[in-house]
Amino acid sequence: MIRLESFVNGAWKAGKGDGRRFVNPTTGEVLGTVDASGIDTEAAVTYARHTGGAALRKMTFAERAALLRGVSDVLAANRPRYNEIATRNSGNTQSDATIDIEGGIGTLKVYSRLGDRLGATQMLIEPGSDQLAKEDVFRAAHIWTTRPGVAIHINAFNFPSWGLWEKFAVAVLAGVPVVAKPASPTAWLSHEMVRDVCAANVLPAGVLSLICGTGEGLLDSVTAMDHVAFTGSHETASHLRRHPRVLETSPRLNIEADSINATILGPDVTSGQEIDALFRREIVRALSVKAGQMCTNIRRILVPQARANEIVEALAAELATLKTGNPGDAEVRVGPLVHAQARDEAVDRIAALAREAKAAAGGGIPAEVSDADPKRGAFLAPTLLVARDADHLQAVHEIEVFGPAATVIAYRDLDHAIALALAGGGSLVASLFSDDPQVGHKVVPDVANAHGRVMAIDSTVGKAHTGHAIVMPQCVHGGPGRAGGGEELGGLRGLRFYMQRTAIQGSPGFLNSLRGTAADAAL
Ligand code: NAP
Repeated sequence: MIRLESFVNGAWKAGKGDGRRFVNPTTGEVLGTVDASGIDTEAAVTYARHTGGAALRKMTFAERAALLRGVSDVLAANRPRYNEIATRNSGNTQSDATIDIEGGIGTLKVYSRLGDRLGATQMLIEPGSDQLAKEDVFRAAHIWTTRPGVAIHINAFNFPSWGLWEKFAVAVLAGVPVVAKPASPTAWLSHEMVRDVCAANVLPAGVLSLICGTGEGLLDSVTAMDHVAFTGSHETASHLRRHPRVLETSPRLNIEADSINATILGPDVTSGQEIDALFRREIVRALSVKAGQMCTNIRRILVPQARANEIVEALAAELATLKTGNPGDAEVRVGPLVHAQARDEAVDRIAALAREAKAAAGGGIPAEVSDADPKRGAFLAPTLLVARDADHLQAVHEIEVFGPAATVIAYRDLDHAIALALAGGGSLVASLFSDDPQVGHKVVPDVANAHGRVMAIDSTVGKAHTGHAIVMPQCVHGGPGRAGGGEELGGLRGLRFYMQRTAIQGSPGFLNSLRGTAADAAL
């Protein structure tokens, strides 16, 4: 049985307890245990803050970019083993695993290229300056410098690779060392990746630490200069926000939580158009890719009232062709959820939604699955629900079924569609499928203030779009309200979480000379 260890103070250490078990969700077989009990997390965080922080702060952006490239090369060389772990422990099909593993490697590469662009500097300066005196002898410019703390990254189970490396890439490019805590059910992949990176010796001491365990005590020694970036459920986020040490010291806190994302089909779209097919393709993806376990996934499908029945029938027919089962089978499109408890929770939540919506496809545990036993594996049938009354919905706007499930809601007109999208209380992403620019001009600004990202697809984009659920490192990720209020990535924008903006007041000559020592912070 595999026993995951933690990498702290520059060495691998086992916990002292029995730990929590992690499983193969296709078979229910126990694969190993995760445990960090007895590990001095305070000492680990202090070591990272001082040893790793000192090393990174001496380096330029370009030198840190080289570190990221070194890590991505190590990971790229071990892809086949990671894919195997993702299938065994996360229930990933090969394309599911690619999203997580290549997503991590790709994000490291994007940030290493950004670092190259910033070059041999350690500071950012915003464009322009403001005159502060009558005579132009006193001005202000704004610079960004690395904060001296550590980054504590607490990740969700559904992206053990991408979640680890997307946060790491931004923090390290900004010059901040990382203590990462993967979620216990899928920590195995993060553990193997960090083991390979440590063995390859591509990072200075203290730049990356890994805690495999519950994370208990991880925030007990957090300081005002530290950065806590959390990804996970709304419930855990609320708990961390109220952590006494977080309240007392006010570290920077970024929350990426769950959200009830919506997609809107424009009223201009008719059956048979390319844009209609693109819309349905995206819904089928939402109900199959990673078995629906993506925070950005479509949970609410807003369609014009007049077309609702026809669209539901077409989607139900397409879903019936999807093969659910053993993700090792190349034809399987829907693997299991991460474990039986997650599947049971999803079934309970579908039952809660059933008060407001009826199932047009799926709705529970499938009677049969391909090459696996549905009683042992954590399978959930792709589930399409249809809201009974769009004007009296609460559960549909509030309850996240973290699996292959979404609800169709029929809208009367665009104002109604926008109001329904906003009823999610703040989401990570919304999408619109329409060939009428007027529809886009109304929907995009009206929903943007409640979303971190809006994807507006017309048929000129066609299949070239990256997907409603896929987070691109060039774009900000995070959303207001229910989604946690955080913001990550977005190219150089992401660095700001780990850096301090300071107004520098001085003579125009001095500010110009300062500009020569810094990289341009223009985005
Ligand atoms: P979770 O149960 O909230 O756990 C998230 C992380 O928090 C795990 O690493 C967990 O560790 C840790 N944790 C729990 N209690 C903690 C505590 N008291 N102190 C420190 N750490 C603690 O979420 P999950 O089940 O892993 O992930 C699924 C959820 O994440 C979904 O709701 C999904 O929508 C959301 N999500 C959001 C995003 C986003 O970017 N917005 C991305 C992915 C997922 P253990 O596993 O060891 O308990």
